[in-house]
Amino acid sequence: MAKYIFVTGGVTSSLGKGIIAASLAKLLQARGFRVTIQKLDPYINVDPGTMNPYEHGECYVTEDGAETDLDLGHYERFLNIHTSQANNVTTGKIYQTVINRERAGDFLGKTVQVVPHITDEIKRRMLLLGESGEFDIVITEIGGTVGDIESLPFIEAVRQLQWQLPDDDVVVVHLTLIPYLRAAKELKTKPTQHSVKMLSETGVHPDIIVCRTEEPLNNDIKRKIALFCNVKPEAVIEAMDASTIYEVPMAMLQEKLDVICMKKLGINVFPEPNLQNWKAFLDKLKFPKGRITIGLIGKYVELQDAYKSILESFIHAGAVNEVKVQVVNVHSEHITVNNVAEKLGSLDGLLVAPGFGHRGIEGKIAAVKYAREHDLPFFGICLGMQMAVIEFARNVLGLPDAHSTEMDSNTSEPVIDMMEEQKKIKMMGGTMRLGSYTCDIKEGSLAETIYNANRITERHRHRYEFNNEYLEDFEGNGMIASGINVDTGLVEIMEIPGHAFFIGVQYHPELKSTVEKPAPLFVHFVAAAKKYNEEKQTIEAPLLQSELI
Ligand code: GLN
Repeated sequence: MAKYIFVTGGVTSSLGKGIIAASLAKLLQARGFRVTIQKLDPYINVDPGTMNPYEHGECYVTEDGAETDLDLGHYERFLNIHTSQANNVTTGKIYQTVINRERAGDFLGKTVQVVPHITDEIKRRMLLLGESGEFDIVITEIGGTVGDIESLPFIEAVRQLQWQLPDDDVVVVHLTLIPYLRAAKELKTKPTQHSVKMLSETGVHPDIIVCRTEEPLNNDIKRKIALFCNVKPEAVIEAMDASTIYEVPMAMLQEKLDVICMKKLGINVFPEPNLQNWKAFLDKLKFPKGRITIGLIGKYVELQDAYKSILESFIHAGAVNEVKVQVVNVHSEHITVNNVAEKLGSLDGLLVAPGFGHRGIEGKIAAVKYAREHDLPFFGICLGMQMAVIEFARNVLGLPDAHSTEMDSNTSEPVIDMMEEQKKIKMMGGTMRLGSYTCDIKEGSLAETIYNANRITERHRHRYEFNNEYLEDFEGNGMIASGINVDTGLVEIMEIPGHAFFIGVQYHPELKSTVEKPAPLFVHFVAAAKKYNEEKQTIEAPLLQSELI
């Protein structure tokens, strides 16, 4: 049977519960345990698929097509495992299941209530992955902050499990903030004391307290927290701000977070952690030999979380290429045909981001044109690929009206059109083409070099596709379809042979990039940008120097 670790949060949100949970999981995995993580989100949406990025950041898609919280991306990137539908549960999902059962008459005339019916369903989901037999340890991150009305049933479910399961099968880790008051030059423990008190009032007592802090916690502070929060001093863990999230597992190793968890779980014999690959990655990340600049063109660029997986993929690919990838955000609404050269002139590569709707579209098209005409490495993801197709149709094929029917339903040249199966769908939630599909890769293409394979699988999230009626015209004029869905013939990859690097993909390669397996497309795109940068240095060095001054 699996053992369970619950991670709750107190004092404020955004303390990095997901990163702490993922780091703990990494350490346990490095010690040979089969670990998975799940996120329980207290909001009422069934999933984040219908929320816009301003509300929720990126929507992370799993292999099996679940639209989930972006923390699942961290779990996969840290652990190099796939998560699934079961790894992200929301209040919406819980109530949906319970209400469907009530309609089916499953409750046999009983009044359906939060306790026990909602909490029973929460507990069932909490235990589900552990019961599969695939994992030794299941970490469950409870979203939100202790004290929120919404998270009460989740905390109550933890309380019941703490009581129901054997003592050494459950650990509760509580993450809090120890603020530093600069004027008084003091770390303050009171918010943590209150937060633990509030958690204890609901009947859940934390075994371990992880303290986010800007300043190191001395032993006195640790003892004080231990005393007032009723835990052992060694169960008070310091979590200092780190320069990169990938440092956090090493920091937690030093603080023995994993050892304390294992002891509480009755695991007293365990091997040293094997973190060889992780450390090698960190070394490359911390000591890059060069720097390149990539422009990220999107309409949510002011919000870092909107493109989380893309930014993380650049970190992985940068380490492989031993360069620091500086990502410059360029708002697509600010690009025009007149200022495009000025906006993009100093870049080493251009990435046009995924997205929905017409806002900022013309800026994206202008950016693609610039990259195509200036041999600037270009990488388009999903909507970015669709923009590359529209640009090529307008400016190379001579079809000025070319568009996607998403932005212009009356266009006379629908080079991007809604997928046939999508046309009959009216509901918005969970109805896109989602999850992993198989794609065949054309021999001799850039895509083949990148993947070093002829058949790949990647994850999707879209409703529109390349209109195959135009394929002959495109291929005859220099843009080829180098990746095709095996079953449907849907175009997955478009590229321009002869260009320094020009590729657009209908899928989301950023969703499968992990520390141990960086996404090949990002690795090769960064390599092309590095080459572009080196060539630019040799040709334009004097000019660049003067520009710098
Ligand atoms: N809006 C486009 C579509 O639905 C692209 C989606 C995306 O970039 N994820 O096809």
